[in-house]
Amino acid sequence: MDQYAVIGNPIEHSKSPQIHALFARQTGQDLEYRALLAPLDDFAGTLRDFLATGLGVNITVPFKEQAWSLVDQHTPAAERAGAVNTIQRLPDGTLLGDNTDGKGLVRDIEVNNQLPLKGLRILLVGAGGAARGVIQPLLAAGPEQLCVVNRTVSKAEELATLFADLGPISAAGFEWIEEPVDLIINATSASLGGSVPAISTHLIKPGHTVCYDMMYAKAPTAFNRWAAEHDAARCIDGLGMLVEQAAEAFLLWRGVRPETQAVLEALR
Ligand code: NDP
Repeated sequence: MDQYAVIGNPIEHSKSPQIHALFARQTGQDLEYRALLAPLDDFAGTLRDFLATGLGVNITVPFKEQAWSLVDQHTPAAERAGAVNTIQRLPDGTLLGDNTDGKGLVRDIEVNNQLPLKGLRILLVGAGGAARGVIQPLLAAGPEQLCVVNRTVSKAEELATLFADLGPISAAGFEWIEEPVDLIINATSASLGGSVPAISTHLIKPGHTVCYDMMYAKAPTAFNRWAAEHDAARCIDGLGMLVEQAAEAFLLWRGVRPETQAVLEALR
């Protein structure tokens, strides 16, 4: 049977095996998909051993940037992002690295949540691997402005420079921005520790601003609780992004894009 896996550390809470099993059943594909824990000091060994027979892998925290440097070629999305979340072993044995996080995010916002990004003022909070992966597709969606803010301002500035030729992007520190925006996307890992980035509450225009946390959990995340307390119009979590980025990986590997709504409902 064709073998696929998600590799990360930690990995035990990953929903990817469940998602891909549902995709496989829905599309009638015969494949096996499992979660693999890689030692922090030997991601390359785990990847090499699996891909000796496996056809593809997803990569999660904290190996996406390492994965970028271990593949033979990149898709345009992965090339600019500097991070890889999907690898395909090609028929000649070489490895193709893709980044489907951004496509997944944009599809979740625009299709699942019916919020067109064109003309919006967007604040992207965070400048780590997740933020890098979503900037190109966000700019391609035609926002009025995309401002990257980060606790360490230099990293936000680095990203604004890297993507400057693709659209209206700027960088700032948390305390520099006070004007309300249309959409705030939390791409920090702060919610993992139950905290909220120290951004101004004035960024939320009550009843108008939509808040999106890339993290997801059974209960609302710390960021989404904060957003609701300040009367955000809507608070969305990252489960839809997870399912949509998985569907893009499935498409790359199997040539068919699964229908995601049913899978999202099953997971919820
Ligand atoms: P990284 O470790 O690469 O980056 C972490 C980022 O969070 C940095 O910008 C860091 O700022 C910031 N940060 C961490 N703690 C705080 C804090 N207390 N206050 C303010 N900023 C903070 O992580 P990733 O980019 O890989 O992941 C970020 C989040 O996105 C995770 O929660 C992950 O689960 C989620 N994610 C969800 C996906 C999905 O499909 N739903 C896909 C990918 C990621 P600094 O630079 O100053 O350290």
